Amino acid sequence: MPEINQNYNLLQKSYLFTDIAHKVAAYKKANPDHRVISLGIGDVTKPLVPAVIEALHAAVDEMGTAEHFHGYGPEQGYSFLREAVVREYMARGVSIAPDEVFIGDGAKSDIGNFQELLSADAVVAITDPVYPVYVDSNVMAGRAGAPLAGGGFERLVYLPCVRENNFVPDFPAKAPDIVYICSPNNPTGTVLDRDALTAWVRYARKHNCLILFDAAYEAFITDKDIPHSIYEIEGAQDVAVEFRSYSKLAGFTGLRCSATMVPHSLKVGDGRGGRVELNGLWNRRQCTKYNGCPYIVQRAAQAVHSKVGKSQVMKQVAGYLENAKALREGMAALGLEVYGGVNAPYIWVRTPNGMDSWGLFDHLLTKAQLVCTPGAGFGKSGEGYVRLTAFGTPEDTAEAIERLKGLSL
Ligand SMILES: *Cc1c(COP(=O)(O)O)cnc(C)c1O
Repeated sequence: MPEINQNYNLLQKSYLFTDIAHKVAAYKKANPDHRVISLGIGDVTKPLVPAVIEALHAAVDEMGTAEHFHGYGPEQGYSFLREAVVREYMARGVSIAPDEVFIGDGAKSDIGNFQELLSADAVVAITDPVYPVYVDSNVMAGRAGAPLAGGGFERLVYLPCVRENNFVPDFPAKAPDIVYICSPNNPTGTVLDRDALTAWVRYARKHNCLILFDAAYEAFITDKDIPHSIYEIEGAQDVAVEFRSYSKLAGFTGLRCSATMVPHSLKVGDGRGGRVELNGLWNRRQCTKYNGCPYIVQRAAQAVHSKVGKSQVMKQVAGYLENAKALREGMAALGLEVYGGVNAPYIWVRTPNGMDSWGLFDHLLTKAQLVCTPGAGFGKSGEGYVRLTAFGTPEDTAEAIERLKGLSL
């Protein structure tokens, strides 16, 4: 009888969203006349913009003609899209070559898959609280070690991001081989500024550490001084891979498209005393296990980079950011400490009076019929906070703010 990959036995079940669903269902059953509003959704709600829909229709029509039919495409993505990504970087003063850009079907898969290029004994650092994909993909690869009784894993290095350090991870006592950084951050909604990013790039260069930089929320940055890419920091191309996604930028959560940047100058040990480019390895991995993002989806993504498309998607992003601002202000008016929500669609609220994450969750559900996400579900350092998302409709968000007004804590 075949046996499973034993690493899968080490995965910790996440009960977070099922626990939330159960509590909400029980509340609705007991209070059928109360309308519950979710501020917990991690998916976008606005439809695809007209420029994207037009590009999709045109590409579908092409696929129905013998001259313009597209079969297997390049595993790395079509050059029209890779070049559009390159131009996006150029506009921010970053020079990256088309063959350093890999188009994928989403940042979740790219991030989840990328770790397999690194050795199983590499030491991984993650920020805490964290996007669970970084952790679980390394558990599956056998890199995380045994689960610990109080949560977490033996071999992972946890970098707390809390109000006490301004949500900027401190350097670990011993340098890890790999560090995951997400800015703007999910779940905290906070960003790393130029100084913080520069310090991490220097650290990585000094200690030969690989940074896996998740820029999925780059489009939500409103402060002019916050870098949109880690490559805006000098020397980052020697130490960092960057992941981008069209999901939150342009509502591609159902369409699926991403871009992963692997600069040629980024080299790691080959295990035989030499150094090797990760670019070639990622290319080999993708060519072996992936047949490319659909042609029609890449045409749709190309439209996001057009002048018209960009202005349409940035209007949607601005709409979500208005929700974020309203939620921030609504929470702050209750006397709560509020973080994030300026350069990100997430608001991270500190629980009052030593209440725990689930305590505030229950309070918001039963007193205002609002659903949030308890921070403890994102890691130990998330305890004492809850996450609100700005991805709801403006109507629901406005109603949520109204309900907050009458709330006592
Ligand atoms: C939503 C999200 C992504 C993007 O995932 P896709 O697979 O591209 O939809 C990546 N990283 C984080 C932290 C996210 O929240």
